[in-house]
Amino acid sequence: MNTPVTASTLYNYVQCPHRVQLDFFGDPSQKDRISAFVQLLWERGNAFERETMEKLDVPFADLRSFEPPEKEYRTLRLMQQGEKIIDGGRIRTDTLLGEPDLLVRKGSGYVAGDIKSGAAIEGVDDETDGKLKKHYAIQLALYTDILSQLGLLSPDQLPFIWDVHGQEVDYDLEASAAKRDGRSLWNYYEDCLKTVLRIQKRDEQTLPALCSVCKLCHWRSHCRARLNRDDDLTLIPELGRAKRDALSPFFKTVRDLARSDLSGVVKGQKTSFPRISAKTIRRFQARARLLATSGARPYFTEAIVFPDADREIFFDVETDPMRDCCYLHGFLERDKSNPNREKYYAFFADEPNEEQERKAFEQALDYLKSRRPCVVYYYSHYEKTTLRKLQKRFPDIASEAEIQRLFSPTSAMDLYTDVVRKKTEWPTHDYSIKTSATYLGFKWRDKEPSGAATIEWYHRWVETGDIRLRQRIMDYHEDDCIAMRVLLDGLRDLAR
Ligand code: SF4
Repeated sequence: MNTPVTASTLYNYVQCPHRVQLDFFGDPSQKDRISAFVQLLWERGNAFERETMEKLDVPFADLRSFEPPEKEYRTLRLMQQGEKIIDGGRIRTDTLLGEPDLLVRKGSGYVAGDIKSGAAIEGVDDETDGKLKKHYAIQLALYTDILSQLGLLSPDQLPFIWDVHGQEVDYDLEASAAKRDGRSLWNYYEDCLKTVLRIQKRDEQTLPALCSVCKLCHWRSHCRARLNRDDDLTLIPELGRAKRDALSPFFKTVRDLARSDLSGVVKGQKTSFPRISAKTIRRFQARARLLATSGARPYFTEAIVFPDADREIFFDVETDPMRDCCYLHGFLERDKSNPNREKYYAFFADEPNEEQERKAFEQALDYLKSRRPCVVYYYSHYEKTTLRKLQKRFPDIASEAEIQRLFSPTSAMDLYTDVVRKKTEWPTHDYSIKTSATYLGFKWRDKEPSGAATIEWYHRWVETGDIRLRQRIMDYHEDDCIAMRVLLDGLRDLAR
């Protein structure tokens, strides 16, 4: 009998179809060890579920401690007896297996719900109310499907998420999944399930594709070796799986694309490939050529003028997304009068609470004000978004206009969005600061530098008070700021 499809299988499929194939058929000895950050996510998710259930002031049946077969048996029995709330149940059909956090009796049947340590809705801002998360919806759809097949589904009632803000959010699976084709979340679930079942029957073969989720995936080394061996097109920055699949009938490898004559596929502004313009394919070809040419150097595609300032500041923040807290603002400062001397300033929230977060934010803004006039460099819009969020949280510390001024083009520059991505090409596989600064010869002091790792270090620092962890975060963060300075100097050299 085949392994049943679970909510995790579907979640993984949404992240990367190849992950599903490897999880079904890959050699387990080739898996990388699970990163400390991923383990922390699991632990935090479980702890959040427990805390939520402990706070519940209505009775419920708790099945979490039972072994799977016993759990399954008890879940069915409790549902047949009409139990109001079942925590940690297990339901299945021949092909599907679900372990919803909650099964709740509503009307004549049951609905499933999950407890999530994230927000139930994504993309909420001043202009929009946000939308339901597809990867949550697909898991709820699986539970709903099983309940329906078991004849235990409550008609006209919606599955739900209890989220990190303590809200119960109904997930209407008939809601639209994508504006483009008007298909519903339920249709999306059916499509995903169909493909997963085809992968499981080996009726469909998948390929790895270099993407951001690879960093946290346990098949990363295995896939990376294969991508390099195959000279896969997804090694080209920002090309991705969908474009690779569209291009693959014509170009199989980076080298193929690098040396091809595009006139056969380019027609005016368009190409033979859906949603790939002539401009885009030429840009990817330029990147392919850089990757395929040994010793190739990065270059500017447009002229650029860097601000001329007596004082330059390289700014970076660190946040703990699980606690929704910005715990570190760091600045590397360099003066034109003495460019070989630079100094790092950091404002750190020792505890992830409102008071400490507020203090660090206030100190950071005071520091910036005291350094004017200066030019602030940062890498990606994340710093701007974080300060805007902090301003909303602590409006008495700074006004919206002040934050706006801080990032005005006359006094600040986003090296990622406005320079690296927009105006340069690099012989690298992505445009992260780690990759660009490493290319320019910079080395982080830490052996495993990554933003995800710092979240785990901060978590352990809060739990243990181990000063070495605090120092590790500081060193890593200072290096991130220095990396930005290395990048700016490298870009200036290139511009010359
Ligand atoms: S490493 Fe990347 S391509 Fe490979 S299975 Fe994981 S997410 Fe997919």
